[in-house]
Amino acid sequence: MKPVRVRFAPSPTGYLHIGGLRTALYDFLYARSQGGKFILRIEDTDKSREVPGAAEDLIKTLHLLGIDIDEGPRIGGPFGPYTQSERLPLYHEHAQKLMDSGNAYRCFCSSETLSEMRNEQQAKGLFVKYDRRCLALSEHEIQQKLSSGESHVIRLKMPDNRSFKFSDLIRESVEMDSSQSDDQVLIKSDGYPTYHLAAVVDDHFMQISHVIRGEEWLSSTPKHIWLYECFGWEAPTWVHLPLILSTDRSKLSKRMNDVSVESYISKGYLKEALLNFVALLGWHSSDDRELYSLNDLCETFSLERVSKSGAIFDLTKLDWMNGHYIRNLALDTIAERAKPYFSERKIDTSDISKYHKCIAVARERCTLLPELADYCQMFFVKPLLSDADVSLMRTTEAQQVLSWFSNAIPAYSPLNEESINLMVKQCSTDTGIKGKQLYTPLRLALIGQAHGPDLPNTFAILGENEASKRIKDCIV
Ligand code: GLU
Repeated sequence: MKPVRVRFAPSPTGYLHIGGLRTALYDFLYARSQGGKFILRIEDTDKSREVPGAAEDLIKTLHLLGIDIDEGPRIGGPFGPYTQSERLPLYHEHAQKLMDSGNAYRCFCSSETLSEMRNEQQAKGLFVKYDRRCLALSEHEIQQKLSSGESHVIRLKMPDNRSFKFSDLIRESVEMDSSQSDDQVLIKSDGYPTYHLAAVVDDHFMQISHVIRGEEWLSSTPKHIWLYECFGWEAPTWVHLPLILSTDRSKLSKRMNDVSVESYISKGYLKEALLNFVALLGWHSSDDRELYSLNDLCETFSLERVSKSGAIFDLTKLDWMNGHYIRNLALDTIAERAKPYFSERKIDTSDISKYHKCIAVARERCTLLPELADYCQMFFVKPLLSDADVSLMRTTEAQQVLSWFSNAIPAYSPLNEESINLMVKQCSTDTGIKGKQLYTPLRLALIGQAHGPDLPNTFAILGENEASKRIKDCIV
């Protein structure tokens, strides 16, 4: 068996999107589960679509998520460089080889000529493809055009009437006819290779064992297989991952902002939840378990259990998972991850003990990291009451409860669950006020709202002094 070497090969045309993360994650998990290597290759040969900084951002995001790259740009490795624009001579050498063996040819057709051709074919209801008129050029004509500096591309000559049968690890046996394949441009007029040539050449020289990529590339596979045949190379194992669909089953578009991984991270989703959620977009284990750490996934993942049918991107499930991880990861971890959102709201978290108590209470009630900071605000900033609440606090009953507590607190100190329960009971006995009538004024005074954590937690977070002060401030 060949060693397992898989690559994630994004084009740096924008943010890493959910589909890209799914491919990267499956590549990584497969490599880890097989003791293989995970390679990052930057496919930057379409200069018109390149976004400056996108490759660096993508590497940062993968790193942040814990998807460790074994070989790639900056890290290096035995088959570098791992950025395609640094490998141009290799693609030219191989395009030349294809021309020498009669499997590729130069095409000088202008874009006007090509669009006329396309319109005519469309009008006749034909499959739109290059009609090979430049294949008829004599060597002399080609040389003349070259010496006059005419712009041109190099095209692959696809075989006629050939059926391409190949196996795909997920789709099993696939068959496609060459009549559905155009004579693919391999080298563009700007001298850069297209994805098709560069990916095949690189996958070969980087000794990639499994090409794991989105289903949208399935229709290109015959061209790639043909390239492997022309070069006399052994093709890798093909693995085409199912589409990711919205809940209405339309294709999840990468142009929609909300599919960028960075946007989920900045909204306060945890990497653990994102990875777990994305892992299940097309894969599940035999027991349909839902919750996995990255380590669990490395042990359990298998390509055989990836499904053929589209995977539904269900945000409610991601929210549910995020809530699960917010509640269940180590308290320190959540406290650390939530800190920036507290700083954003200018909440001072330097009293670590208070901060941790807040997080412990808040995480039982929140789905996203910023919500923790929103929820905890009441423990740090004296609450502002609405007009209706102010009137409620002025009622005789409310004032009775507040005065009773304000006087009693020192006697019941230290405040803990037991002493607070005793206080509530005694207050009821002394004032005849109980239930909602007792709790609401207390809560409004302490945290500015009628609902919230139980009293022992509230007192514990605020501390005796602050709690007493807040109650006193409400006594008129
Ligand atoms: N550069 C291609 C992309 O952006 C990679 C496809 C592949 O993995 O072969 O999706």
